[in-house]
This record gives sequence, structure tokens and C-alpha cells, in this order.
Amino acid sequence: MNIELIANLSYIVAAVLFIFGLKMLGNPATARRGNRLSAFGMLIAVVAGLNSQGIVSYEYIAGGIIAGTIIGALAARLVMMTAMPEMVALFNGSGGVASLLVGWGTLYGGDISMFTAITVLLAVLIGGVTFTGSLIAYGKLSETIRSAALVFTGQRIVNSLVLAGLIGSGVMFTLAPAADSQWLYIVLALALLLGIMAVIPIGGADMPVVISLLNSYSGIAACAAGFAIGNNILIVAGSLVGAAGIILTNIMCKAMNRSLVNVLFSGFGAVKQGKAIEGEVKPLSVEDAYYILEAASNVCFVPGYGMAVAQAQHVVKELGQILEANGAEVSFAIHPVAGRMPGHMNVLLAEADVPYEQLVEMDDINPRIENVDVAIVIGANDVVNPSAREDQDSPIYGMPIINVDHARTVFVLKRSMASGFSGVDNPLFFGENTRMLFGDAKESISGVIGEFG
Ligand code: NDP
Repeated sequence: MNIELIANLSYIVAAVLFIFGLKMLGNPATARRGNRLSAFGMLIAVVAGLNSQGIVSYEYIAGGIIAGTIIGALAARLVMMTAMPEMVALFNGSGGVASLLVGWGTLYGGDISMFTAITVLLAVLIGGVTFTGSLIAYGKLSETIRSAALVFTGQRIVNSLVLAGLIGSGVMFTLAPAADSQWLYIVLALALLLGIMAVIPIGGADMPVVISLLNSYSGIAACAAGFAIGNNILIVAGSLVGAAGIILTNIMCKAMNRSLVNVLFSGFGAVKQGKAIEGEVKPLSVEDAYYILEAASNVCFVPGYGMAVAQAQHVVKELGQILEANGAEVSFAIHPVAGRMPGHMNVLLAEADVPYEQLVEMDDINPRIENVDVAIVIGANDVVNPSAREDQDSPIYGMPIINVDHARTVFVLKRSMASGFSGVDNPLFFGENTRMLFGDAKESISGVIGEFG
């Protein structure tokens, strides 16, 4: 069998593994196996790809696999669970820069056709945007840079000039493609700038859409690089990532009740301030929380990013069991963008073995939230912020929320009066029926459990 045939057969096996792996990721019960299956597919694809080119010796391939395995295993083991979203952003960025380099490398192979020049251009352009855009997303998620939208006067003009420059230099490059083309350097510089300019004006609450979109871009860049070097598996894998990312982007847009255009361009105007909030904050002690919960017959937990920070999921489950044993109906309401990555709360609650039948979606709980005696908000903030519903001047206006303020009583468990990821203040904390249980969520819940004895 010749080497190309072996490569293509391996690619088919890898593509099938990717598709089955992706399918299995759709269900928490099969997700881990799906992940392993896809990773195995990737190993086959990488080895077959390198082998088919005949330019890298087996020793180098083995060395690369060992080095990559060590780095990957260490990164996966050492990264904190709460830092996973940032890591995903870095993965997207690495995918972007890898495609950029592969695309660029094609130019060193001698004369190229117009078609190849266009695919190289796309790989460099989309790869560059993905790279810097993901770095900014990383900064916002790790809160090393401000998560709120960053806008300045003349931003639209700057962006229009960058776009015009990209189109012009892109056309010039494709007319005379070469590895040392000055037009390509300009495309690269402008693409890197565009990635930054595209993500800085996007407010914290819209970041889920941006991350899914960057994920999709990394796939499209890989696909373009695949066409540039004529590699089938790169085209297939890139298309899968690109398509999956677009589907996720669409799901996230629906969850935020926003169109993609609105998310990408709404930050380009003046920053909205939102109404000033007035009212009184009513702190609650662990003992008082116990007395109210003891008498409650319907309790709904609403987890958010703070539950992940506090790693409170296990004690939350324990309190749920205690309340159930005490005769209360218990549910866990999940907002689609709670936390910092899609499905974040589902993953945490699944880890704590909270029964699936107790999980309710936002659209299911909202119509019956008035029957809830106590809504316990655990480190959630933006996803329960009533200004999204009521304050047209709020930057998060229009985003669907879990209407905990319509429950009979609301306990909010957080450490301070600080705002959530969007940087928007929350009138819920001043509500008539709201009681603030200040402190680390895990400690507060453990305190309440202690009261139940
Ligand atoms: P938020 O980020 O709005 O709020 C989290 C709250 O948790 C903070 O106000 C913080 O308050 C509190 N907190 C932090 N640590 C603790 C702790 N140890 N114990 C108790 N409370 C704690 O979270 P939400 O889940 O409500 O909303 C998610 C936000 O992130 C949305 O704006 C969403 O758009 C965005 N986002 C979501 C992504 C996704 O894919 N899900 C991706 C990127 C962004 P305090 O400091 O006072 O304790």
C-alpha cells in the first residue's frame, strides 16, 4: 500500500472518530468517552499527516508526541477548575496561530496558484484574528483586564480603516503571493489588530457568544490552512470545529436574546450606564436562614459563577437532600450562560451527583417561580439581575434572566456587594423580599447545614 493511501484511510478513521466523539459530547453520561475517542482520532490524524509528508523522522514524531503529552497532561492536571474557561480561550488562540503558521509555511513551497494564495490569505487573516481575539478573551475571563466593554471615540473609524486596509492588502497579496510579500506582513499586522479591536468593545455578559465565535473561527482558519496545504483531515476537522462553533454561537445568542450583529457591534457606541439603584440591603444570618428554610415547602437553588469559585456544589447538594427530607420540593434552576463556559453549572452539579430530574431550565422555572418559597442564589449575579428585564438603559437590557425576584423570598449568597462579570450593579440585592447572606458560598451553606444538625 502506498503512503498516501495509508494516510487517507487513517484520515477517514480519524474523521469518523471525531464525528462520533462530538456526538457523545452532547450527553454528560458519554462525554468523557467522547472526548477520549476524539483525542485518539487526533493522534491518528497527526501521526498519519506527519508520516505522509515524509519530511519528519519517526524519532521526531515520537519526541513530539511525548513532549505534547507531558505538556497537555500537566496543563489539564494543574489548571484550576475555575480557570477552565480561560484555558479554552487559549486553546482557541493556539489553534488560530497554528493555522496562521501552516498557511504561511505553504508559501515556502515554491510557486502557488491563485486559489492557494486565497486560502493562505484566509488562514493568516482568520488565524491572526482568532489569536489576538482569544488572548483578549483570556484576559477578560481571567479578569487580568476589565471584563466590561472598552469603547473610545473614533472606534468605528479605526475599525473601518483596519477593514479597508485588510481588503486592500489582501488583494495586493493574492495578485503576487510570496512568503516575504510586504502585503502579507500588512495583512498579518492588521489581522492581529482586528482581533483586539473586535473583542475589546464586547461587554462581559456577551463573552459567551464571543468565545463560541472564536472557537468557530479557529476551525475555519484550520479549514483554510487545510485547503492551502491540500490536507483532507485538516479540512474535515476544521469544518467540524467551525460548524460546531457556529451552532454554539447561535445557542448562546438565543440564550442572551441577542442577534450576532447586535453582540458584535452594540459595544461600538456609547457605553450605557443603567439607572442608579436605591434601597436598603438586608443582611441575613445563618441562623435566620435556617429558620426560614426549615419552614419552606418549595426551594429553588440558582447557581452561578460564585458556586464554581467556592466549589460549593457538594454542600449545595447536601443541603438540597436535607430540605427534601424535611418535606420541601427542591429544584436547581440553570441559566444557559451561568458561570464562565457553556454548561458550566451542569458540569458542577453532575460532579456532585445532583439528580437530573431536579435540574430545571430557565424557561421552565420562570412561569412558576411565584410558587417558590425561597430562591437561594449561590454566587449568581448577572443571570438574576432584574435590570436586564426592566432597565432599558442597562447594558444587559434584553438578556433573559431567572426571575428570582418574583419568588416569595430570595437569599443571595455572595461575599460582597460587588457586581457580576458584566460590571453592572444589581437591584436584586436591594429588593423587599431579598436577604443577603454574605460570605463564601461553601461556608455559608455549610453553616446552614450545621444548623439543621
Ligand atoms: P457573575 O459573574 O455575574 O457573578 C458571580 C458572583 O459570584 C459575583 O458577583 C461574586 O460576588 C460571587 N462570588 C464569587 N466568588 C464567590 C464565593 N466564593 N462565594 C460566594 N459568591 C462568590 O456570574 P453569573 O453566573 O450570574 O453570570 C455569568 C456571567 O458571565 C454572565 O455575565 C455571562 O454572560 C458571563 N460569561 C458566561 C460565559 C458562559 O459561557 N457561561 C462565558 C463568559 C462570560 P462577590 O465577589 O461579592 O462574592
